Amino acid sequence: RAKERGRNCYVVFDREEGFISRVRADLLQAAERALADGEFRLFYQPKLDLRSGRVWSVEALIRWRLPDGRIRPPGEFIEALSGTPLDTRVGDWVIDEALRQQCAWHAQGLRLPVSVNVSADHLLGDDFVPMLRTALQHHAMAEPHLLTLEILETSRISDFARVCRRLEECRELGVLFSLDDFGTGYSSLTYMRQLPVDVLKIDRSFVLTMLDSEADLSIVKGIIGLGRAFGRLVIAEGAETPAHIEQLKALGCDLAQGYGLSRPIPADGVMQWVTDWNRSTA
Ligand code: C2E
Ligand code: MG
Ligand code: MG
Ligand code: MG
Repeated sequence: RAKERGRNCYVVFDREEGFISRVRADLLQAAERALADGEFRLFYQPKLDLRSGRVWSVEALIRWRLPDGRIRPPGEFIEALSGTPLDTRVGDWVIDEALRQQCAWHAQGLRLPVSVNVSADHLLGDDFVPMLRTALQHHAMAEPHLLTLEILETSRISDFARVCRRLEECRELGVLFSLDDFGTGYSSLTYMRQLPVDVLKIDRSFVLTMLDSEADLSIVKGIIGLGRAFGRLVIAEGAETPAHIEQLKALGCDLAQGYGLSRPIPADGVMQWVTDWNRSTA
């Protein structure tokens, strides 16, 4: 097979997908195996409550730990799963694992809100609500309001009504919602006003440049104002330095997340990190 020379150039047929590239087919097959072999991990990135200085919650971010120990970031595989049954299966695993971990922390005395990223296909799938209900019941110590689902603003504009209905259904189970990468999608304002979301998450592209760009600073200010006007919490992602965090605090932003606080860390380091942080600000 001419694998080396033209990996991208030929295609295979897949029952669900029709024709997909050989590279993607290989990746999907590897991901399938990774799921079975337990190679997926969740790392957790702390979010800071700028008002109290304490840890607000953590965001679960998927990692693929290869047998050789290398860590593959989601940017290298999440897209490839999109539109395949693996998207749902990996997504189900993420929710279950995050709840399992959250309950484990709780059992050790740390009651920590967790957010997970959910793809539009997963969210809109027929099984999503029953899956979520079952997962919340299965983990005895799970508290729905301590789980936030992060959804992309850009996802599925054509299905806006369906997204709205689905969010309402999930809300009845008690979970919260956050609009991820806010400001980068289409018709942000209509979305924001109509969707039952609790948190607006300012995309890091604006936050990263707000100290140098008046225009981006205005966008950050604008989103913070919107959040206030509509009773939504606002979190800024991509707060890479103490200066970003100080600026966000000065602007009245509620929450912040970024390398300036912490990079995503493995599950077994979270308890210690949160305890140390909260002790140092007590
Ligand atoms: P996201 O949900 O917007 O997550 C934030 C991303 O920004 C994370 O990248 C995080 O490591 C990175 N980040 C955090 N702070 C900073 C900072 O200060 N500076 C910079 N430059 N980057 C920062 P990561 O973990 O590689 O995830 C990338 C994207 O992959 C996520 O973006 C999310 O859309 C997706 N993703 C991650 N985990 C999952 C998952 O379990 N399911 C699904 N469907 N998507 C996921
Ligand atoms: Mg996110
Ligand atoms: Mg984001
Ligand atoms: Mg982002």
